[in-house]
Amino acid sequence: MLDIKITKTTNPKQKPAADQPLKFGKIFTDHMFVMNYTEGKGWHDPRIVPFQNISLSPAAMVYHYGQEMFEGLKAYKGENGEIHLFRPDMNAKRTNVTNERLCIPQIPEEDFVQAVKAVVDVDRDWVPSAPGTSLYVRPFIIATDEFLGVAPSQTYLFMVILSPSGAYYSSGLAPVGIWIEDEYVRAVRGGMGFAKTGGNYAASLIGQVKAHDGGYSQVLWLDGVERKYIEEVGAMNIFFKIDGKVVTPVLNGSILPGITRDSTINLCKSWGIEVEERRISVDEVIEAQQSGRLEEVFGTGTAAVISPVGKLRYVDDVMVINDGKIGELSHRLYETMTGIQYGKIDDPFGWRVTI
Ligand SMILES: *Cc1c(COP(=O)(O)O)cnc(C)c1O
Repeated sequence: MLDIKITKTTNPKQKPAADQPLKFGKIFTDHMFVMNYTEGKGWHDPRIVPFQNISLSPAAMVYHYGQEMFEGLKAYKGENGEIHLFRPDMNAKRTNVTNERLCIPQIPEEDFVQAVKAVVDVDRDWVPSAPGTSLYVRPFIIATDEFLGVAPSQTYLFMVILSPSGAYYSSGLAPVGIWIEDEYVRAVRGGMGFAKTGGNYAASLIGQVKAHDGGYSQVLWLDGVERKYIEEVGAMNIFFKIDGKVVTPVLNGSILPGITRDSTINLCKSWGIEVEERRISVDEVIEAQQSGRLEEVFGTGTAAVISPVGKLRYVDDVMVINDGKIGELSHRLYETMTGIQYGKIDDPFGWRVTI
């Protein structure tokens, strides 16, 4: 149990007006959580302070070799003003999986969850209430040693910042066009594809730029060895519904284990839908499409929850999925998951954590 010292701002910011459209990740709340790590001492000085700039040496290791990690989750406001988190214990677990890969010290899961809850509680009035809006929660850790040698840092900062965010879909679930990248790759087995770390995103930007230039909103990555098997989309995992069965790439070390992915698999199974976690090649998807067996394609991630795919481009092929319309399963998953998140429906899995 952390003994968190709280220093409240004496100069609170103006909150965005309820009818003001919020962008993603542009404005921040009044407070943030900070905790230091020092080798030999462990994590220490957990505190909530006014949101402010931090000062680091230009030689701080994070700037040079990218030793850092991050998480992403949301706080949702229910109809009676209560604030809910969705499976924050899973973010805590994944933090330590990422930390292990990046040689960052472990954080006790309960401390991670306590920190998130505490800072959201201090800024609970910042959780927006318009339909589909939420407070985005961004925990992250950076290496802070002033040292240009390549080695794990001996000091770190763990911080949690908060950003009120608009509805991902301004006018209901909308299908997206996805670019299957056939040149660049995001991650390889043995690398750090399964870890939530900035370096993976740095490697992905060029594909994202290519996709945008081609008129597509997101990239679908193929495996780093044969460029043949489907891995995942930018910041989403990917699902296919083929012949009534749900298929998603198996977690093979180069794919990020999404919490929305796990929730989707659990919901589908609870509805009696068969789910296969296995390798799936781009050829298999094209073949399923050509023979009329590809029923739905959708991405899963905290930002969009469910993102139906209307169009998939691969080299010279453009596949239109389900006539560019939202599939029945995509819709049901979206309604159920957001229903649980906002406290509108029962939570049979115990995923909701109310603050
Ligand atoms: C965070 C992330 C996801 C989605 O994970 P969720 O826990 O469902 O939000 C998928 N892919 C990548 C690369 C990610 O960073």
